[in-house]
Formats: sequence, structure tokens, C-alpha cells
Amino acid sequence: MTKLRLAIVGAGPAGIYAADILLKAEKQFDVSIDLFEQLPAPYGLVRYGVAPDHPRIKGIITALRDVLDTGNIRLFGNVYYGRDVTLDDLKQHYNAVIFSTGAIKDAPLDIPGIELPGSYGAADFVSWYDGHPDFPREWPLDASSAAVIGNGNVALDVARILSKHADDLLPTDIPSNVYEGLKQSPITDVHVFGRRGPMQVKFTPLELRELGELNDVDMVVYEEDFDYDDASLAAIESNKQIMVIDRIFRKWRDGLQSDDSQSDDSQSGASRRLHLHFFAGPIEVLGTDRVEGFRYERTEPDGAGGVRGTGEFREVAVQAVYRAVGYFGSPLDGIPFDERRGVIPNREGQVIDDHDEPVNGVYATGWIKRGPVGLIGHTKSDAMETVRHLMNDQANWWSPVQPEEDAIVTLLEQRGVDFTNLQGWQNLDEHERALGAAQERERIKVVPRDEMIAASKG
Ligand SMILES: Cc1cc2nc3c(=O)[nH]c(=O)nc-3n(C[C@H](O)[C@H](O)[C@H](O)COP(=O)(O)OP(=O)(O)OC[C@H]3O[C@@H](n4cnc5c(N)ncnc54)[C@H](O)[C@@H]3O)c2cc1C
Repeated sequence: MTKLRLAIVGAGPAGIYAADILLKAEKQFDVSIDLFEQLPAPYGLVRYGVAPDHPRIKGIITALRDVLDTGNIRLFGNVYYGRDVTLDDLKQHYNAVIFSTGAIKDAPLDIPGIELPGSYGAADFVSWYDGHPDFPREWPLDASSAAVIGNGNVALDVARILSKHADDLLPTDIPSNVYEGLKQSPITDVHVFGRRGPMQVKFTPLELRELGELNDVDMVVYEEDFDYDDASLAAIESNKQIMVIDRIFRKWRDGLQSDDSQSDDSQSGASRRLHLHFFAGPIEVLGTDRVEGFRYERTEPDGAGGVRGTGEFREVAVQAVYRAVGYFGSPLDGIPFDERRGVIPNREGQVIDDHDEPVNGVYATGWIKRGPVGLIGHTKSDAMETVRHLMNDQANWWSPVQPEEDAIVTLLEQRGVDFTNLQGWQNLDEHERALGAAQERERIKVVPRDEMIAASKG
């Protein structure tokens, strides 16, 4: 029987689901899978993106962990594709590779002032509060007012973490330095700005509703944003999700006490306020040496499902701006890359080159295949499609000269790569739980890479 020696690069949900689907599939060949991950811990953005106060979503880790624990997949942690292993190495040792390297960077937002000190990418902030080892451990939380640009779930995550009191995050797995940083924050007002209307948002009802449940934070919406056009009314009628979003807004709007449409007179006296502004297109981050404000243009529906500028400009004084306008994938050595979309070009997971021709033996799945949109569950259907192609493509697999399982281990050792394995991750996991137990918390994340590796090695 033929054997498929498969390398998967990236141990986020997409890579782990791909391995699981392949192992469970009916097939005419044996399979042996090696999973390479640049971090000493698996799970990608489930560990380093999903907000710490979303334990139900973080709980998906349990299902991913079950896949790794079946013992049919070898995990090589702390191994960076492009430096520690190359495409040529993979061709020497495997029949094929699936790239599932996701996205970790912010998409750009090209407006004046965006480079000023005090202007940040949401992805960087997320990496800080979720304890990613490759990001600075200090975050300058010195603003009393901050703007968050964007209307997706990540924008709401950022706004929520900024406005939430640090003590309310203590039951989560946030690293100690993140708790200390947030505890010092002088923030009183967080303003979220979306270009479009409240019925065109990209966030989900659950994330929106949660904002209204924050301790000692008043929700502030502005009545002028709720003069619905026909398209919005139709969306409420036809789309259950939008209907629920409208209901949540209605509750907050009912709390408004002023007739003045621009007034935020809905406050109960909480020490922090979270403002949601719609029909607000970003124009400029203001300031000379650092962020001093945010300028936006009031927009209006254009009748075709979009918005257009009205020529009315407004400014709000803020000392920090967070742009949450999307994530962006990174190119991989030797692999085609679509610079515009930030993805590996592919046809249903089969990687293709500049001439639209399949690149034999190379596949992609997850955010690096599809772009950085969609929930964890979507990476499963993604992986099914990619694995189907891989399985039907046997004639085009590589023919490795060193397919023995020990050979890749020897190569990494000869290169002096300080790689970890599944047992190492289990050790680190136990160590983090023990740190948490000492403070009656479920877990405290270890952040520095060398400490992660040390804990992995016991
Ligand atoms: C801030 C944020 C919050 C989110 N919240 C939710 C939520 O509440 N619910 C939900 O369902 N979804 C949520 N998502 C979406 C979810 O995280 C993604 O759908 C999912 O993680 C994408 O999976 P992936 O495996 O493609 O990529 P990733 O999760 O990014 O995994 C990619 C892996 O590849 C590794 N890697 C990258 N480059 C290399 C390399 N060169 N060599 C080796 N390894 C490499 C990375 O370290 C990482 O572990 C959120 C996303 C973000 C950004």
C-alpha cells in the first residue's frame, strides 16, 4: 500500500482540522502526518486571537487537542517554515505539503496620520493582550479617550478589552503583564467608528449584546444614526441576524433621554463609556508628534447598498487610534503569493502559480487560502475541500528521497533547531494550569518564547 507522508505547516484550527479529516477519510493509502508550527504552542488564533473573555470559543481548543492526542500526528513546535525548514527540505522528506499559516498582521489603512505614535493596529493589540511571544510585552495604555476604526468582531473585541475593567478579566487566562497594564489604564471613553450604517455592520449579535453587559461601562449610541433607509428596513425584515442587531440597538436607544440626535445622554453614571458611531468614514488621524484626535466624514446611504460622503467633517479628541480593518496574510518562501489579497493563490486548495497552473504537491487551507474572514468552523469546510484535492491528486505528489520518519528529526537536530513536540506542549499546558491554580485561575499564559520552551522541556 502506498504511504502519504504529509507535512502541514501551521498548527491553527485549519491545519489541525485538515489532519483530522485526512486521518478519518476512507482512502487507499496509509498516512503519516508531521505538523510544523512556528510557536511552541499550537492552536493559532484560537489561542492568540480569540479574546480571553470568550472562554466558550477558547474551549474549541479541547476539540483540537483531542485530535492531536490521538497520537497519529507528530507536532514539531518552534519550527519556522522558511528558516528552519524550506520547501526543498519538504520535497526531500514528504509527498506533499498543506500550508495553513493563517494571518497575524493588520491590513493597512491609508489615511494621513495613521503612522503617528499612538496609532495602532488591532492585530498588534490583540497579540499583546493574548500573550503572543513575538510581540512587545509592554503596551502604552495612557489614553483617556480612544478611537477604534472598524465594524467587525475584532473592532468590538478591541473596544471591549479597552473599556473593560482589568479585574473583570481576572477569571480569564490573560498573562500577568496584561492584567497589570490594563489595570493602570486611565481610559474613560472608547469610540467605535463604522463607515456604514448600523444595519450594515459585520459584527455578530452575540458580540454586540455583550457590550451592554460590561460592568461599569455605559453604552452610548446616537439617534441620528438610526434614521433607517429602505435597504436597512428590508434587511431587518429578511435577515434574522440583522433583526436581532436592530433589537439590541433599540434597547440602548430606548435608554436615550435627550431629543438632541447628537447627544449621548443615555448614561447611568458609569466610570467608562463605549460609544458606537455609524455613517462615519475615516479621514485623518490628527496630531503633530502623537495622536491628538480623529477626523471623520459623515456618510449617508447611496441607495445602492453602499454609502457616500456628505461633505460634513467632524473631529473627536482621542489620544489613541486602533484600526481594526482586517487581518492580512504573510508570504511564504518559495510559494506563490497574492500581494493584493494577502493569500496563497489556489483553486479549491490546490496552489496555483502565476500562469494559473497547479503547483504539484502544494496545497493551502484556512485563512491563508481564503483570506482572513470567517469563524473557526469555516476552517473545517475549507480543510475538507483541500484534503479532497490532495487525496485525488496522487499522481502529482512528490517522490521524496528520504521519506523515513526519523530523517526529518535528524535534519532538525543537525541544524540545531530547538524544536518541541506534543509532549512538550502538554508539559507547557500543565505548567500554565499550575500557574493559574496558584491564583485560583484556570490558567495563566506563559509569554516569553524561551520560558515556553523551558516549560515544554520540563
Ligand atoms: C482577534 C480575533 C478574534 C477572533 N475571534 C473569533 C471568535 O470569537 N470565534 C470564531 O469562531 N473565530 C474567531 N476568530 C477567527 C479564527 O481565529 C480564525 O477563523 C481561525 O483561527 C483561522 O485559522 P487558521 O488555522 O487558518 O489560521 P491561524 O489560526 O492564524 O493559525 C495559523 C498558524 O500557523 C502558524 N504559522 C504561521 N506562519 C508560520 C510559519 N512560517 N512556519 C510555521 N508556522 C507558521 C501560526 O503561528 C499559527 O499557529 C477570531 C480571529 C481574530 C483575529
